[in-house]
Amino acid sequence: MAEIIPHNRLTFSEAECEAVARTVRSGHWSQGPGVQALEAALARIGGVKHAVCVASGLSALRLSLGALGVRSSHSVLVPAYSCVALANAALAWGATPIPVEIEALSWNVGHESCREAIAAHHPRAVIAVNTFGVPVELDGIIASGVPVIEDCAHAFGIAVGGKDLGSRAQLAVLSFYATKLIGGGEGGAVLTNQKDIADYVRLARDYNDQPASPHRMNDKMNDLEAALVLAQLERLPDMISARQTIARRYLDMLSNSSHFDRLYRIPADTKERVWYRLVVEMLAASAATAVEGLQRFNIHAAIPVTDWRPAGSPQSPVTDRAYRRVVSLPLYPTLTSNEQDRVVKTFLKVCEDSARG
Ligand SMILES: *Cc1c(COP(=O)(O)O)cnc(C)c1O
Repeated sequence: MAEIIPHNRLTFSEAECEAVARTVRSGHWSQGPGVQALEAALARIGGVKHAVCVASGLSALRLSLGALGVRSSHSVLVPAYSCVALANAALAWGATPIPVEIEALSWNVGHESCREAIAAHHPRAVIAVNTFGVPVELDGIIASGVPVIEDCAHAFGIAVGGKDLGSRAQLAVLSFYATKLIGGGEGGAVLTNQKDIADYVRLARDYNDQPASPHRMNDKMNDLEAALVLAQLERLPDMISARQTIARRYLDMLSNSSHFDRLYRIPADTKERVWYRLVVEMLAASAATAVEGLQRFNIHAAIPVTDWRPAGSPQSPVTDRAYRRVVSLPLYPTLTSNEQDRVVKTFLKVCEDSARG
């Protein structure tokens, strides 16, 4: 049997190992100088005045909503096709997450759907995601006047239209879960130019010496995680360009097949994005069929997002199709050309078989 090609593979060297070992020896195991150094680096890369590190992407979202004053009578707009963490962040405040329809092949919320939902629901905040690394169009949403949180878990470290990702909205969040663009095991951050928001998150992440509260849940990041993330940031430009090279090669191969646009669709190549995920939309088979088909040849693809929407949510045909049809292929800096050839060859065969079957 051919060797397994995993859906994710971590990118690291002795630099990451050394960074963690140094931190162990330093005795600073909890939130300390490492987190502080990481916050300075994130603020610089994101082009903002303040970065505050927290325990996870979900912590960052939850505390961002808290900073914006979200409470139980409020609603929060989130992309209908998104990580359930977004909905959970709103639910943590007793607020109602409102799923907003996305656009085909960018898988991002469009500003028109957002503006319609804003008019209908008067939300307290909007969370917009740079889905799979495609920068979400923010200007039209920001123009509505509702506070916007830019979720940069999939895309960070580049500028779009002259603005660094992370600096385009009132707040931005990051996740450092192991398999995200920037890995740290677990961890997250809130980025903002507003001192009052940064101060709120700094205070809210810790419960020590403060009044009792159900919202102070110990959302701190530690220096071991910060050391890993700092080492990953050193290689971020290289990781982004390696991902781009591999993605381009995928797009070349996948657009040159006679199955292209008949059995699957692929996203357009755009320069101003990060290739966090290479996703294809199946046209003649379900995503589950494609994933199972590839699995038989030891290639691990994934259905990248799971439907969390409650029954009775607004009609969203593009989102419905995305949950059923979108497959994520292996894409990471250490994927070799041989592995990539095998993924494409097998994927095309699985497409043919499922179309016939
Ligand atoms: C993973 C993810 C999150 C949540 O981050 P965690 O660190 O896993 O809590 C939030 N938003 C997006 C877009 C994500 O991909």
